[in-house]
Amino acid sequence: MTFFKTIAAAGLAIALSSTAAFAKQQQKMNYVVDRFADIEVLRYPVPGFEELTPDQKKLVYYLTEAALAGRDILWDQNNRYNLQLRSLLENIYTNYKGSRESADFKAFEKYLKQVEFGNGIHHHYSMDKFTPEFSESFFDAQVNALPKKSRPTDIKTLKKLIFDPSFMAKKVNQAEGEDLIATSATNLYEGVSQKEVEDFYAAIKDTTDLTPVSYGLNRRVTKKNGKVIEQTYRIGGLYSPAIERIVRNLSEAVRYAENEKQRSVINSLIKYYTTGELKDFDDYSILWVDDTDSRVDFINGFIESYDDPLGMTANWESIVNFKNLDASHRTEVISGNAQWFESNSPVDPRFRKEKVKGVTAKVITAAILAGDAYPSTPIGINLPNANWIRAAHGSKSVTLENITQAYDEASHGNGFNEEFVPDEKMRALMDDYLFITDNLHTDLHECLGHASGRLLPGVDPDALKAHGSTLEEARADLFALYYLADPKLIELGLLDNPDAYKAQYYKYLLNGLMTQLMRIEPGKNVEEAHMRNRKLISEWVLEKGANDKTVELVRENGKTYVRINDYPRLRELFGELLAEIQRIKSEGDYEAGRDLVEKYAVKVDPELHKEVLDRYSHLSIAPYRGFVNPVYTPVRNDAGEIIDITVSYDEDFIPQMLRYSRDYSPLTR
Ligand code: ZN
Repeated sequence: MTFFKTIAAAGLAIALSSTAAFAKQQQKMNYVVDRFADIEVLRYPVPGFEELTPDQKKLVYYLTEAALAGRDILWDQNNRYNLQLRSLLENIYTNYKGSRESADFKAFEKYLKQVEFGNGIHHHYSMDKFTPEFSESFFDAQVNALPKKSRPTDIKTLKKLIFDPSFMAKKVNQAEGEDLIATSATNLYEGVSQKEVEDFYAAIKDTTDLTPVSYGLNRRVTKKNGKVIEQTYRIGGLYSPAIERIVRNLSEAVRYAENEKQRSVINSLIKYYTTGELKDFDDYSILWVDDTDSRVDFINGFIESYDDPLGMTANWESIVNFKNLDASHRTEVISGNAQWFESNSPVDPRFRKEKVKGVTAKVITAAILAGDAYPSTPIGINLPNANWIRAAHGSKSVTLENITQAYDEASHGNGFNEEFVPDEKMRALMDDYLFITDNLHTDLHECLGHASGRLLPGVDPDALKAHGSTLEEARADLFALYYLADPKLIELGLLDNPDAYKAQYYKYLLNGLMTQLMRIEPGKNVEEAHMRNRKLISEWVLEKGANDKTVELVRENGKTYVRINDYPRLRELFGELLAEIQRIKSEGDYEAGRDLVEKYAVKVDPELHKEVLDRYSHLSIAPYRGFVNPVYTPVRNDAGEIIDITVSYDEDFIPQMLRYSRDYSPLTR
């Protein structure tokens, strides 16, 4: 239950819920900052920042400073040579005297951008090392042109790192049967084998503890005098200069805390950074999850452990944010009416919850992205990760709406809709309503869908086994799809047009039947649960609606398109499938669940797949996107005191990276 690292679908549209501030912002904002390799870099606005109180702004400011202060930690965690490599590449880039149009320099610049985006020499998603397209002789000449003091001492290793594809080839290796530590290039372990680490933790873990700490979370494991030891990330320990700077800024931030609860959250984080004790992290996490009243919120620390092949040590990251009051009102209205939705759902009353409580998900505005959340960032956060804390104290689930909105804005004019949506009227409807219906779909899915329904007494919650998560996502999606077309949403003031849902229905089926296939390699099946769920729903309604042509795939000019002829009937079909999947879950009918998944969710039609990949390749849509941050500048009075903070959005990608390296690099000094 962690970050849901979703790649936002391409080709979306404008917001109905735009605040006036955002509308003003978007007129002057040029979203696309840079495009190179497989990456597009965007900027994001921070609507509502100006409306925060002066103290809230100062709180945000010091928290953003605490966020930027940790940048070097992540680079070093990703690979032990990354910081040296970054300094060298940046020095060459700024020192370069030749033509900036030459092929070698262009290739060098592309490589630098890839390294900056990857927070090191490996791709953030594929985990593969980047391939330089400049010559070794060009590189040697640039190194020799540097002033002596900025030439690295171990140039031989750095050259091997850049030019030898077999050296530290994979950031994180997950291939079964190999020593995952020895074959991963991350710096979370040093000189120890996988077996030694596993034995070490097996010996210290207390398996009877009902409230276990997150072992290894803030530790690097290495050997001293032949014995396996942990090095702790803390003040006085590993990464101390960066952590000291984080803590200095947290100590400034705490002066502007909005209330007592928030003050204790920040103070407990300072304590944890000071001691490095994992018990202190749990104490902090409990205080953090309990602070639901503060407008400003943040995460800062070692949180997600995707990049540890053993899933223990976490990467450093930070996101600072404040609550989006308008959009959070939306999720409150939905949760507040949870019982009405449950009681009117198309499922058998035996499988409905008699008393349902919706989950209130908060919608937030990100103010800064840092560490492992930058430049590539999640669009939602659901924390903390410790299962026992979630069970006893709950969790916070948030959506970063200014980030999703920036994705959508930047997708305008990328050619996606023109290629895949032939009906001009539908394209206009999507322009007007896709963003708001996407958000409502997510809200209904998260706040109601997963929380709805019940198991019959005695049914094993794990009865659906390997198909459980696909069917659970399908249940939540169907709940959302069914209600998106309900007049209740208009009555509640959440939509202003009875046809708005059609934009979402069209995009959902287009994605489920066709366009999501662009993320699948030729010859492969659909594996991921969310993708399987979308395919299951879409293929099922296509088949069930075939006789009366509710939905069809049509061919025009040699291309395949989705055509929806009967929206009200399509809604009924969603309701029928929801009823069936809820029955399967409530009764624990494994066979029926398996048959649905196997028949509709997995197998890819190779010809349609090839067509989709081909049509995509003609659009220049980057597979991966990320962001530059806004720039926050303190305004001081004559006495030097900060009286206000301004925000600006004019910094480009490489200038931002060079500034961060200059001003926020406590580990490279
Ligand atoms: Zn879900």
